[in-house]
Amino acid sequence: MALQESQEHNQLHFLVIPLASPGHYIPTIDIANLLAQNGVKVTIVTTPVNALRFGSILDQPIKSGLPIHFLEFPFPSMEFGLPEGCESLDTLPSFSLIGSLLLAYNTLQEKVERYIETLNPKPNCIISDTFLVWPAETAKKFQIPRIIFDGMNCFTQMCNHFLYLTKVYENLGESDSLVLPGLPDRIELKRSQLPIVFNSGSKPVNDFHERIRRSESEAYGVIINSFNELEQGYADEYQKLREGKVWCIGPLSLCYKDVSEKAIRGNNSSIDKNECLKWLDSQKTGSVIYACLGSVSRVEPDQLIELALALEANRNPFIWVVRAGHKTQAIEKWIDEEGFEERTKERGLLIRGWAPQLVILSHPAIGGFLTHCGWNSILEGVCGGVPMVTWPQFQEQFLNEKLVVQVLRIGVSVGAQNAVNLGEEEKAGVGVKREELRKAVEMVMEDGEEGEERRKRAKEVSKMANKAIEEGGSSHWNMRRLIEDIGHQATTRRLN
Ligand code: UDP
Repeated sequence: MALQESQEHNQLHFLVIPLASPGHYIPTIDIANLLAQNGVKVTIVTTPVNALRFGSILDQPIKSGLPIHFLEFPFPSMEFGLPEGCESLDTLPSFSLIGSLLLAYNTLQEKVERYIETLNPKPNCIISDTFLVWPAETAKKFQIPRIIFDGMNCFTQMCNHFLYLTKVYENLGESDSLVLPGLPDRIELKRSQLPIVFNSGSKPVNDFHERIRRSESEAYGVIINSFNELEQGYADEYQKLREGKVWCIGPLSLCYKDVSEKAIRGNNSSIDKNECLKWLDSQKTGSVIYACLGSVSRVEPDQLIELALALEANRNPFIWVVRAGHKTQAIEKWIDEEGFEERTKERGLLIRGWAPQLVILSHPAIGGFLTHCGWNSILEGVCGGVPMVTWPQFQEQFLNEKLVVQVLRIGVSVGAQNAVNLGEEEKAGVGVKREELRKAVEMVMEDGEEGEERRKRAKEVSKMANKAIEEGGSSHWNMRRLIEDIGHQATTRRLN
């Protein structure tokens, strides 16, 4: 065998299977990018709309020679009752279609397996999203180690672990409080703030989560978008729990240095990046509060109005991201009738649709980030060195809030009381009042000692984040450890 042919034969090959929700797809694409930067050949399983939307950030790296390939399959939206071109969670017209979206994704299994059959050698590793169960069968069938990625941090993994283990939430009323057992910090929440799996009365939902848990426990290991130093104690415990097969390789968003790359991560932004930068450049350092509630939460218009009025009542300049899609007309009608945009135009910038979040959070004008506590957003806030106003909405976001406010002490809570079930936003009950939102924003932006301390800590964790991904840093080292581990598996298999 010629040398080059032999090297290609021995080059590690990872098959990457993302889940079609921005909060999962975006970091999975980053993982693929990082692996390829480390010499691994990567094939990303995708579908046409997702390839265009999430994949375009890899155009340049691919042109420059990184070994990344897209394995694109048509997506059977219409067959499963989804609108044409609807391939991801955030574009679903209703969350009652989540089941159909996942079923449509299951059709990829057969196609992926047919592809693997054509390969010799077979891929050395499958990295797949936790919420896709079929890659477990595929990995088993071809005896390929499977690593899962679920977008959570070690703190949340440990909270969930002890909740499952002890079931302390059982027999509690919705508004009863509980202290999470087994953790180094005293974390207290209400039952209604726990992830849905600890609150669901629905058998199909429970069965689905049980299948996922089983598939997770059978996986070879877990990739975490975080860094060891951020989660001292929790990362170590999670490592022990999974017998060393945990790799914290984040913050993933730091793999993009260039503004042009940052501006297209996850979608083309709806505001021109230069216009956005010009606005930010015209603001004082640390003066702007950036409010964005993620990519999938469907916050009711009355709550968005409370947010708008709180941003107005606070005197700082602000950016408010008004997502397109859910009840847009209602909120646009309010903005229009109230003359809100006109009234606040001297110090407010409204971004309708997809905001270039990484560009914004890495600008020195940003002094605070009002977030729904999705883990990607929090980590991006950490990288930006900005303190946060936390307004969790669903799933593990109330746990993330505890990490930010109580453990890291870089945030102030708005005091949300209940996790919302996706698709049941109208039943969410008592929401957050503008006064609570305004107070939390003011605390984060204030000049006093407490605000100063919070800002100082936020800058410190940002420095730690940047260090973690540098040569010799913990995440850099973990990435090497992961590749070596899979390389070792591959050699052992070749020899047997
Ligand atoms: N995002 C963005 N612009 C937007 C909304 C979201 O760039 O207008 C990105 C954000 O930077 C993050 C991801 O989308 O990387 C959202 O993930 P997260 O875990 O924060 O929340 P989710 O949307 O999954 O609830």
